[in-house]
Amino acid sequence: MKKHNFNPGPAILPKEVLENTAKAVIDLDNSGLSIMEISHRSKEFENILNETVELFKELLNIPSGYHVLFLGGGAHTQFYMVPHNFLNTKAAYLETGEWAQRAIKEAQKYGEVNIVASSKDKNFTYIPKGWTIPTDVDYFHITTNNTIFGTELRYDIESPVPLVADMSSDFCSRPIDVSKYSLIYAGAQKNVGPAGVTIIIIKEDFLNSKQVQNRVMPLMLDYKVHVKNNSLFNTPPVINIYVVNQTLKWLKSIGGVAEIEKINLEKAKILYEYLDNSKMFVGTVVKEDRSIMNVCFVMRPEYKEKEEAFLEFAKQKGIVGIKGHRSVGGFRASLYNALPLESVKYLIQVMDEFERNNK
Ligand SMILES: *Cc1c(COP(=O)(O)O)cnc(C)c1O
Repeated sequence: MKKHNFNPGPAILPKEVLENTAKAVIDLDNSGLSIMEISHRSKEFENILNETVELFKELLNIPSGYHVLFLGGGAHTQFYMVPHNFLNTKAAYLETGEWAQRAIKEAQKYGEVNIVASSKDKNFTYIPKGWTIPTDVDYFHITTNNTIFGTELRYDIESPVPLVADMSSDFCSRPIDVSKYSLIYAGAQKNVGPAGVTIIIIKEDFLNSKQVQNRVMPLMLDYKVHVKNNSLFNTPPVINIYVVNQTLKWLKSIGGVAEIEKINLEKAKILYEYLDNSKMFVGTVVKEDRSIMNVCFVMRPEYKEKEEAFLEFAKQKGIVGIKGHRSVGGFRASLYNALPLESVKYLIQVMDEFERNNK
């Protein structure tokens, strides 16, 4: 049976990306060698790496003066690598969910953290409003999409201090104005590839002028070392970068981030519309802050005991990955770039069928 993959991450990848990767695992471009068997310093791999950087620059319209890096360790490594490099005395963070909280906890090991605003009071079901960014901080950190709770900051904010963003779960889902950011990081496994590589877009000027001096700086933690070595200081996650390369080629082939945003908006729109009209299911997030990547919903109180039965029903219908995170419960449908509109329509049909059968 065809599977409809709503996994929150690692998540669905385009079929042609999987097919091309399968080929490259056996024989990379008729070289007689696997992508896993070649040197990261070979011409073949350097071409792939440089092409991937160029694809990001093109797709996200990255201005000059920025570097694109591929590092290991996931977004969790960025949670401490950012303050290690840039938190001199104080930083500001927006507390919008569990990933933001983890970033905050790591930053607190380096200095004072000013939590500018938080939506913890209502289990992160909204994005805080009306806050001001302090000007006496080294940087301001945001999480653009809150994967677990289903809220999203779908615009580029203006910041008087260097802006740092964890974009792991909405990276490349919409056009962004990179010039507003000093550092963007994203684990690949939500929208642009497999787990194991993190993409960092860093502003040269920020790195040169704001990196903390007088701190013990292991080479692997130093962004300057990675910039200088074009992500080849140590052995980078070679095959993961290959998959990112293929995913970006796919994205480009369908029209880039502006085009994928239209499709993403349509996917989210039809699912939220269904939820708003359903008597059984209900979304958990305030309307204006709804994520177009992760749609969180539960059953209304009078149907609550049917949640398990729906999960089982959906599973039998080939729907994968819709169980909600334990801190929200219910369900979460992740509608990342590679998930086709057709799968969202199918999910709605299955929800509707269940609703009609269980009135
Ligand atoms: C998934 C996710 C993370 C965690 O990423 P790892 O690669 O597992 O470290 C961090 N932030 C956000 C927004 C995420 O969606």
